Amino acid sequence: MGCRGLWNLRVNGQWYRSCHPRGRISSPDHPITVKTIKQLCDAPDKLDGWEKAPFPGPLDSDFDWVYTVDLEVRTLTVSFWDSAGGNLKPVAVRLDLATVCQASTLSIDDLRQLPRLWPMEDHNKASEPESRGMVPGQLHLDFGLPTPLNEVQARFFIDCIYPWRYYIDDPLTWHYQSPVFNLMSIALLRLAAWDLEVSFDCDVELPIRFYSIPSWSYPRDNIYWFHGFLVILHGNIESQAMISSAVMKAQPYIENPASQGRDVRMIIISPNHVAFAELSNNTLSCTRNLVLLSDLSATQCSPGFRALSRILTSDCWQKSKMDRETWQHKIPFEMLQLIMQKLEPRDAVAFSQASFTAERCYYASLPQLGDMGVRTSPLLVPCCGRRGGLEEGGIVCSTCYAWMHSDCIDGQGQAFIDQYVCANCQTGESSAGHHPGGIQRDSRRKRRPGCQVRLEGSSKLLQVRLLKPAHLRPSLRFFRPDLSGVPPELITYTIRFNGTFSGLAYGLDDEH
Ligand SMILES: [Zn+2]
Ligand SMILES: [Zn+2]
Repeated sequence: MGCRGLWNLRVNGQWYRSCHPRGRISSPDHPITVKTIKQLCDAPDKLDGWEKAPFPGPLDSDFDWVYTVDLEVRTLTVSFWDSAGGNLKPVAVRLDLATVCQASTLSIDDLRQLPRLWPMEDHNKASEPESRGMVPGQLHLDFGLPTPLNEVQARFFIDCIYPWRYYIDDPLTWHYQSPVFNLMSIALLRLAAWDLEVSFDCDVELPIRFYSIPSWSYPRDNIYWFHGFLVILHGNIESQAMISSAVMKAQPYIENPASQGRDVRMIIISPNHVAFAELSNNTLSCTRNLVLLSDLSATQCSPGFRALSRILTSDCWQKSKMDRETWQHKIPFEMLQLIMQKLEPRDAVAFSQASFTAERCYYASLPQLGDMGVRTSPLLVPCCGRRGGLEEGGIVCSTCYAWMHSDCIDGQGQAFIDQYVCANCQTGESSAGHHPGGIQRDSRRKRRPGCQVRLEGSSKLLQVRLLKPAHLRPSLRFFRPDLSGVPPELITYTIRFNGTFSGLAYGLDDEH
């Protein structure tokens, strides 16, 4: 009694889901659960109350059970929270549909005893590196100093992971072969390249909950071009050999006549890591892997995203792009900036991609946010948040790419020849891996401080909105009809990917 959850169903190659508005669901040991499964098996075309979905729904933190009936492979997967080992984590067990249909109910105790299903680990085992004799050289990238734009991108990153954390925390939805991985990868790339639209249309569906489905378009392929880089999605890039095998997978793209003779720069993304590789004069070199997603990613910007946003918004990896400029019109920078500001968001992105001069102009300020300025950079300069003084006295951690003032760290951390490792990285604090349920565990009940900005001369806080504005929340009006003392929490900007709401909404608050 009183259970919450949702149903997923795959039939004829299409996913469907069914969930009660408040998430009510029967428990496995209630006869109606098995009865529902039997009905689906007997009449797979009777889908009243089911809605089409691009992929199965995840185990929300408020859920007890998620049932995934797959009529293609005739299995039932039951997902639930397991507290073994002290930490709550989502787990899944799989049963044969024929066996389920013979029973009258499912025993909860039996379910908890069954071996766990880990699609991610299964895939990792299946994709053991193939030895092709290709030993890549080391690729050294200097990401340079972070810009104010990068700080806002870092904020977007943690604020994007937060609402969609259920999908990333559930091993059934977060693995190489899950479409959710393709979908979130393009979202992270778009945030890192500011390839997004800042919209003033604030009529969006909030909060993001179990019924929300991220629905922006995404490349179905695991290899594609993005802003001049070849993106390769791969199951696991924990070792250099695995990174090489990811590059091998992209051979047909690299050997394409269009890219002949050109250096190919590659961004390799796995469910947890990112790495960068370059093919130049038939020589392959690559970086080590950087953590892209960890348990901390809803509260701290990951090293992988720090690197990704630098690469996609600066010349740090492609220093000689200007000589490839074919656009011959000489327009003063200020004029170009004015044009950029007047363009529709999508046109501004397109313009920046059409010309290297325009691209440089696009990334020189905060595109689409008017004359907003960023006052502090706590996500990228965690010592004190001040961006000033880094040119002269800044030091970057070679592990997490956080910048610090040498005065601020006061002897903490350790310098190795020309490399510095910050105190957090030395203790392993900032290099947490990603564990099922980990993002929810780490971000639970943590305040989400906004980004300190300046707009039209006044200091404001760019604050993520997780709920609708106060006057649109019926439950709030019920208790306080005049909404006295309730912060209005208006939404000023929503972030979209090709017109589709990304889950990111922001408002401007006064600082207290
Ligand atoms: Zn500092
Ligand atoms: Zn560090």
